[in-house]
Amino acid sequence: MFEDFVRENNLQGYRLKQLYQQYYTEAIESWDALTTWPLDLREKLKKAIPFSKLENFQEYVSEDRKTIKALSFTKEGFPVETVLMKYSKRNTICVSCMSGCPVGCTFCATGQMGFNKNLDTQEIVDQVLYFKRKLSKEGEKITNIVYMGMGEPMLNLENVVRSIDILTDPEKVALGKRRITVSTVGYIEQLDQFLSMDLGVKIALSLHAPNQELREKLMPTAAKNNPLNKLMEVLKDYQERTNKKITYEYILIKDINDKEEHAEELAELLKGQIALVNLIRLNPSPLIPFKPSSMNKTRLFQAILNEEGINNTLRYSYGDEINAACGQLANIQRNAKQNH
Ligand code: SAH
Ligand code: SF4
Repeated sequence: MFEDFVRENNLQGYRLKQLYQQYYTEAIESWDALTTWPLDLREKLKKAIPFSKLENFQEYVSEDRKTIKALSFTKEGFPVETVLMKYSKRNTICVSCMSGCPVGCTFCATGQMGFNKNLDTQEIVDQVLYFKRKLSKEGEKITNIVYMGMGEPMLNLENVVRSIDILTDPEKVALGKRRITVSTVGYIEQLDQFLSMDLGVKIALSLHAPNQELREKLMPTAAKNNPLNKLMEVLKDYQERTNKKITYEYILIKDINDKEEHAEELAELLKGQIALVNLIRLNPSPLIPFKPSSMNKTRLFQAILNEEGINNTLRYSYGDEINAACGQLANIQRNAKQNH
């Protein structure tokens, strides 16, 4: 995009560096602030490339003001949701790689809203820059990025990879690779391809069930075509090759996948791996037919994993009341305070 502009206008290479520095690193607020470029060139750029492809950002702020959801729209008018979470000295941005999601997992509000489109590279990066600009005004920085908003990264791999390149390029957004986590439901072929690229980012696998049968019930589209045993082989290979920890996400759903036998089976499945199980109590949504496991069940599940020596954490979900928690990104606004 910028590269084409520079080439087409016969500009010298340093112009591109200036642009990267101000646009990505400093996170300027508009093309007018691109002060390292002469005015005529800036005006030309303004006509050729939109400052942000995503438009009409609206913010929804949680009561404790620590979670902010930004709703924006693509040129076609499709909704995109991005969440900033300000917790434990971290500023984590949860980005979407699609508007909606075609995978249709039964517990996920995004999955239930259907699929609009894959976001392009710029639309993914726009979400990060939006919050980078906001944080920068408060004297703060982005510390982490998670690809855990709307959409399945493996089904939009090219744009996800390109966006990671921009976010980690020292001349651009310059974030550390280990500060980025890509979460996937596990499309084997694409995941294998992604892992072999060795981008150095963290991987989170949305497991949610310890066996094929239950996985098929919860996430039919993804699980049927991507058998659990094959998926685990790909992840084990990666693990052995890189020695990097893999996070397994496991949503606890009342009476569905939260029994003692499920915890035992999960421990068996992950034995011998450097794994971290991220337990998440289901975030309820009017769009889904499930309830979260009770706190008692959750603690019991956790105790079994501990007993079996499986590393685990219980993730608290933030932003519930503004529908900004995981699996709630579906462009439905209830009881939300809106900042224009
Ligand atoms: N498509 C990818 C990334 C986006 S979803 C994936 O599924 O991994 C991000 C995370 O939110 C996933 O772990 C997903 O399983 C979880 N999630 C979806 N619905 C949820 C719900 N109702 N409650 C809690 N977590 C949910
Ligand atoms: Fe898509 Fe992930 Fe939701 Fe499944 S859980 S529908 S893959 S966003």
